[in-house]
Amino acid sequence: MFKTVLIANRGEIACRVIRTARRLGIRSLAVYSDADVRAMHVDMADEAYRVGPAPAADSYLNTDRLIEACRNSGADAVHPGYGFLSENPEFAEAVGAAGLTFIGPPVSAIRAMALKDAAKSLMQRSGVPIVPGYHGDNQDPAFLLKQAHKIGFPVLIKARAGGGGKGMRRVERPEDFAPALDGARREARAAFGDERCLIEKYVAKPRHIEVQVFGDAHGNVVHLFERDCSLQRRHQKVIEEAPAPGLDTHMRETIGEMAVRAAKAISYTGAGTVEFIADVSQGLKPDRIYFMEMNTRLQVEHPVTECITGQDLVEWQFRVAAGERLPLAQKDLTISGWALEARVYAEDPANNFLPATGRLHRLSMPVGTARIDSGVRQGDEVGPYYDPMLAKVIVNAPTRSAAIGKLIASLEACHIGGIISNIAFLVSLCKLPEFAEGDVDTGLIERNLERINRPINAPSELLAVATTCALALGCQPEDNDPWSTLSGWRHWTNPRSYVHLENSARTFDVSIVGRGAARYVLEYGNETLEFEVIENSIDRVRLSLPEKVVTATAMRHGRAMTIDLGGRRFEFKVLDGSAGDEETETAADEVIAPMPGFIKLVATQAGAKLTKGDPLVVLEAMKMEHTLRAPRDGVVAAVFASPGDHVQNGAVLLSLEAENA
Ligand code: ADP
Ligand code: ADP
Ligand code: MG
Repeated sequence: MFKTVLIANRGEIACRVIRTARRLGIRSLAVYSDADVRAMHVDMADEAYRVGPAPAADSYLNTDRLIEACRNSGADAVHPGYGFLSENPEFAEAVGAAGLTFIGPPVSAIRAMALKDAAKSLMQRSGVPIVPGYHGDNQDPAFLLKQAHKIGFPVLIKARAGGGGKGMRRVERPEDFAPALDGARREARAAFGDERCLIEKYVAKPRHIEVQVFGDAHGNVVHLFERDCSLQRRHQKVIEEAPAPGLDTHMRETIGEMAVRAAKAISYTGAGTVEFIADVSQGLKPDRIYFMEMNTRLQVEHPVTECITGQDLVEWQFRVAAGERLPLAQKDLTISGWALEARVYAEDPANNFLPATGRLHRLSMPVGTARIDSGVRQGDEVGPYYDPMLAKVIVNAPTRSAAIGKLIASLEACHIGGIISNIAFLVSLCKLPEFAEGDVDTGLIERNLERINRPINAPSELLAVATTCALALGCQPEDNDPWSTLSGWRHWTNPRSYVHLENSARTFDVSIVGRGAARYVLEYGNETLEFEVIENSIDRVRLSLPEKVVTATAMRHGRAMTIDLGGRRFEFKVLDGSAGDEETETAADEVIAPMPGFIKLVATQAGAKLTKGDPLVVLEAMKMEHTLRAPRDGVVAAVFASPGDHVQNGAVLLSLEAENA
């Protein structure tokens, strides 16, 4: 077995590989870019080597620097992870030339599958059914259009060098073909340096079903069953599962056998995935499953296979690369239970899934119910350079419906603060009845986007929670709370505050009026709602409404706020001009309490002349005194605070006469 492995990757997959290496007694070496000096994978590794500046092209894709690190580090093997250089034959070759073992298939197998056109021809010769289409050499646009007619519209134009859903265009009508071909070629040239395309029949109601294969250097190849990755957005996987819903034993054996045949045709070793597409317009039929492509690496979604087979695929990779035989034969592999994986991304589903960046002020993941594969920790900065995946949440259970329930519960227990994430979207997606029934296809998400991202319709309850969190509204202290024994608990007479909240690109302008101890009236449009704050702690809000008590998880991080209420999650932004908004809290005509606290001293009175900076009110909060000063020169119009008052964040303490008065 190897003594030292260098992991030519970052993020969750680098951490994942380190975990298994450590268990097997193999030392782990990390590589990092300038953006990743403090990253988790660097922290976890035994040693780490810098490979260049932040952009991937200069660091994680920089073959020369990586090979240099290999030579200097004394490693005897390289694990490429997924993405980056994992399917790059030149890199695999250079690793071998440097005297290290590449943990992956032979270079010839990577080459055979690297281009989709060559891979399809190869599979056709091996008797594996392929998606009907044209994958020949002629790239003349007029000729390709003629092929598209022959195949029948709609067609899919695919870059032969494509990956990660890039360089693909679906074309409905002949007149759109030429511009779509131009677009696919442009994208392919930029992303892969190869503009050649193939044309495929666009499968009507497609399901993505893939088979995990494994080979060793002794000629053995097995499959570890299938995964269904049909829940996709823009050809990228969102939720994956194993086994595939509705696949019977016969079909499972058929595609497993096809995948093994594909791997054997190229003398495959190590972990690989043979991707199939199924036309399920008339249900899942064995004669409507076609080979799509083969990925010659470990897949992002490999954990669901690990769950149902009880195997560690990274361990298998190490063993096979070290020359050992496959740990198990086909007849010894069985499926147990059901597994699901959801990809948690730093992105804003309400804003066209724009990747989000920032600091992870809060990252709390479920313990016990799910396996969490992540490459980030609370406090980490998520930058713009790499894939925005934060974590994979993986669950398994005896049945599919139990696994779905567990996934929903686990996702609801993920608390991510500081950066917007797709958690709410994932939870809502998991609750679609079509998903529960296993009626999945690659268009399911796109067709139901509005239903999944559905806006709020009866918002006053939610807005009360959001406002309580945004303004840090206080609650009535318990009788034995020492704070309540301070003299003069009195409530604010004129505390109207305004909050401007944004959710799903909609703005909510809310005003809130104090009505005695911990009681408030919320006004939104022509709705009003009276409530009492029972609890407002670091991450929990409990309100007593006229007819019921609501409990929510609510966290504010700067301008972002995450609220879980009634099984749904809402991401809010607190907009400029809200009381309690740190940058605008001192309106020029008012002195506002910047945090909840007690008034210790009021050093002015109505009618007094002020110079900017004069001390006016002393507020005690968190056992510290804060002096609030005149925001400008002027005259005091009214003083609302008296010593001993408990005031809320955002309460107006004092007002000045208007400037031209
Ligand atoms: P999978 O079938 O495993 O989802 P993809 O083809 O979508 O495979 O890509 C695998 C993963 O590798 C993606 O989720 C993406 O995060 C990552 N990836 C792909 N290409 C790159 C790249 N050039 N740089 C960084 N990460 C990449
Ligand atoms: P990539 O290398 O980018 O992963 P794939 O060929 O695996 O490219 O295709 C990615 C996704 O695009 C598939 O998972 C599937 O959802 C969709 N797709 C691919 N080919 C077809 C097709 N012929 N008809 C319909 N959808 C397709
Ligand atoms: Mg693919």
